[in-house]
Amino acid sequence: MHRTPLIAANWKMNGSAALAQDMTAALNELSQGTTTVVVCPPATLLTAFTNPKTFALGGQTLSHEVSGAFTGELSANLLLEAGATYVIVGHSERRELNFETDALIAAKLSRAVAAGLTPILCVGESLSERQQEKTQQVLARQLDAVYASQPELLANSVIAYEPIWAIGTGESATPEQAQATHHFIRQHLAKFNSQSAVTVKLLYGGSVNADNCVALFQQADIDGALVGGASLKPVEFAQICLAVT
Ligand code: PGA
Repeated sequence: MHRTPLIAANWKMNGSAALAQDMTAALNELSQGTTTVVVCPPATLLTAFTNPKTFALGGQTLSHEVSGAFTGELSANLLLEAGATYVIVGHSERRELNFETDALIAAKLSRAVAAGLTPILCVGESLSERQQEKTQQVLARQLDAVYASQPELLANSVIAYEPIWAIGTGESATPEQAQATHHFIRQHLAKFNSQSAVTVKLLYGGSVNADNCVALFQQADIDGALVGGASLKPVEFAQICLAVT
């Protein structure tokens, strides 16, 4: 099974309209191949990408509600109207800092798909969970919370495995560690839908850069990356997009 690759940029609470212009220039130089490139800036910058020819845009989170008195929140439709076609759901920073529960993340993911956005679901274990050999248990819980009651959503999802200990630390998982975990995730997803488990794109995230990405992309179950820090550097991010085949 050949899955076409996907590289996503997660700018978090960084960037500017000027960086949006620089990133657009760098990415529009790439020829439009089979790789899907998605840039997820802060929502206020979505409309600063005035001419994205070779890449798509995404939000970093969304509300599980459709609309209404939810001050500060962003609906799926608002993201769509601003140009997003993807949205990150359940990033570990939102799970931890915004107290997003597995149940809330499941509701957000279902809202995204219902509105026509492709969710990039983030899952991953903490350092202490890995040290206690609980990685598979944690990932199974995070995946079951979303897909056990709504297995049909898997066909419309992208999943990013982001070990928390590798995010922003400069210490990526090794290609072997990442591959073993991706293989586990794909096997686990088969219980929801065996066909979708084969076709779903699994991204690795956590200190991906232009130097370490090649070995990661050579792994059988790694279909791309969710890139944080290195996605703020247009030249390096374009190199990462070129490195995946
Ligand atoms: P990082 O962030 O590449 O800076 O580790 C990845 C992420 O949090 O999505």
